[in-house]
Amino acid sequence: MNILVLGAGQLARMMSLSATHLDINVLAYDVGSKTVINPVTFTTTSESLQQAIANADAITAEFEHIPLDVLTVCQQSGKFYPGAEAIATGGDRAKEKALLEKTKVACAPFKIITDKPHFLSAIDELGLPLVVKTCQAGYDGKGQWRVKSEAEIETIWAEMSAFLQAGTDAQPHSIVAEKMIPFDREVSIIGVRTKNGDCKIYPLTENQHTNGVLTLSIAGKEKANIQAQAEDAFAKLANALDYVGVLAIEFFDVDGELLVNEIAPRVHNSGHWTQQGAHVSQFENHIRAVADLPVGDTSLLRPTAMINVLGQDHIPAQVLAVSGVTSHWYGKSAKPGRKMGHINVSAGSLHQLGEALAELAEILPEADYPGVMDTAQQLILN
Ligand code: ATP
Ligand code: MG
Repeated sequence: MNILVLGAGQLARMMSLSATHLDINVLAYDVGSKTVINPVTFTTTSESLQQAIANADAITAEFEHIPLDVLTVCQQSGKFYPGAEAIATGGDRAKEKALLEKTKVACAPFKIITDKPHFLSAIDELGLPLVVKTCQAGYDGKGQWRVKSEAEIETIWAEMSAFLQAGTDAQPHSIVAEKMIPFDREVSIIGVRTKNGDCKIYPLTENQHTNGVLTLSIAGKEKANIQAQAEDAFAKLANALDYVGVLAIEFFDVDGELLVNEIAPRVHNSGHWTQQGAHVSQFENHIRAVADLPVGDTSLLRPTAMINVLGQDHIPAQVLAVSGVTSHWYGKSAKPGRKMGHINVSAGSLHQLGEALAELAEILPEADYPGVMDTAQQLILN
């Protein structure tokens, strides 16, 4: 069986690695170079996109900012999962908010902005501080502004206005202003939905971001009532999209109430822990779902943390000597802040996971791997 993934980054690579166990071949379409490549070896094939679509048994995507013409031809093939609408919803915050309203899933109060009067009335109605985000093209905290005081309105509007004007009739730009949520923490849910509508959901993951980028995730801490809220949101959103494959939802936890932050119609960085912490990883389950195979067990095997390797092309070798540790590299050349790989660490209990993280914090500098020691101490004390 052959699967074509739109996008050729680390998510396509890890899907390909997990598909190998299933004897499924994965090729990836790199939207930048418009070539079809092997996402593990990065060798280019001579296939055109049209040929790759024809040769594929199923087509999927590893990111949501895919050109409309590519989405359209994939959708027309009848083999594209989760499908153009789900991908477009994940790639446009205005569509995402409309879905949340339709399904009555809670999120931060927001207003869609397409001109200056909208912006001023959003400030009036929602109040400051505001988080303002481009609806199209944002990722890893890019395309965002924080409006904290009235003095900043004009400077921020100048940048927002440039983004709005860069839209076209075919692909108009919009911006969303959200109330700044004083959350206690950020969590995400990753689950898989099959073609016949069955859902299997992994345990909730707690996520730490540094400068808008995920740095550390932990799975295995959650209480049943929070898990139930996240699963309810997952089912509503996945069913509304008639979704097939792995879907990720990020939330703010505000005093035990979950508010959706965003939806990612794909495998997600906060689900990388499933490679060691669950029986079947998010990557394999996504492949199984789009290939119309039964999906595997998503329950927690053991508490697991994931640490992102950002901008570093190696880690000290002693990291691998810490019990329960595996490393996963993406084969990229280093650039400051770039997601280069990740470290998973698993243990028999949360306390032991804390001890393993404390050992790692002795080896990994805090400046490059923020929060590892703090997290270790919290797990050891609880
Ligand atoms: P990524 O692709 O890495 O998930 P992103 O660029 O799509 O990031 P968001 O997830 O929307 O952007 O925002 C990045 C981070 O900014 C969030 O994880 C959260 O820490 C903070 N943030 C976003 N929206 C709000 C809000 N309304 N209130 C408070 N903090 C927010
Ligand atoms: Mg996010």
